[in-house]
Amino acid sequence: MIKLRGIAKSFGKQEVLKGIDLTVEKGEVVAILGPSGSGKTTLLRCINYLEKPNAGEISIDDFSVNCRKPAKKDIHLLRRKTAMVFQQYNLFRHKTALENVMEGLVVVKKLPKEEARRIGAELLEKVGLADKLDAYPSQLSGGQQQRVGIARALALNPEVILFDEPTSALDPELVGEVLAVIRKIAREGITMIIVTHEMGFAQDVANHIVFMEGGLVVEEGPPKVIFQAPKEERTRQFLARYT
Ligand code: ATP
Repeated sequence: MIKLRGIAKSFGKQEVLKGIDLTVEKGEVVAILGPSGSGKTTLLRCINYLEKPNAGEISIDDFSVNCRKPAKKDIHLLRRKTAMVFQQYNLFRHKTALENVMEGLVVVKKLPKEEARRIGAELLEKVGLADKLDAYPSQLSGGQQQRVGIARALALNPEVILFDEPTSALDPELVGEVLAVIRKIAREGITMIIVTHEMGFAQDVANHIVFMEGGLVVEEGPPKVIFQAPKEERTRQFLARYT
């Protein structure tokens, strides 16, 4: 189980997260929705310490990090338990698809190269790229690059995968293939937190929806409730723009 308590983050004088509490059960798929600038990406980046929260606590099962005074080793551990899939893929340009996926297995998990190669190839097959192991990012479409990014996240066997608007950099015709892969791995019971503007996808894949605005969680609940009978006027107004 992942628990966030009182996560706060400011950039200079701008308070971007104003105390976020969130609980994500094991195997749950949580979609975070909200208007531009509401702090969704910042929250996701705080969960694996790409951004350092100013306050709060992040717990994964019985491990926790006090964000006011985190120990260095706890930050390393937190990063190993969480994997991020980025909007812009963030692949190593000079490495092949397989080498990109192997990187974490060799460097972080210290596996022998042969084993890393075997696992990497299996994961690329899982995301539908068995024939692209030796391709460089520049030889792949955006959708294919993002699927390499997903395989790379899976390779670390994290407690949770954090998806930061995984399809928003893609041409519309490539969105479907990436969403299909995310759907497939969600069915395998991997815990996921997904920041997305794809309302239909969120409704379909998530068990739990979180609606954020102004650095706060305004409302959360099962997709049925949030999409069909939201309690908060702000949620209703936001969703009305998408339907
Ligand atoms: P979008 O849906 O447009 O991606 P978001 O809800 O993910 O928006 P964030 O990207 O978390 O919002 O940004 C929230 C606010 O924090 C914005 O006003 C943004 O300009 C500001 N912000 C984010 N990152 C930084 C940074 N590194 N330095 C300064 N300000 C930042």
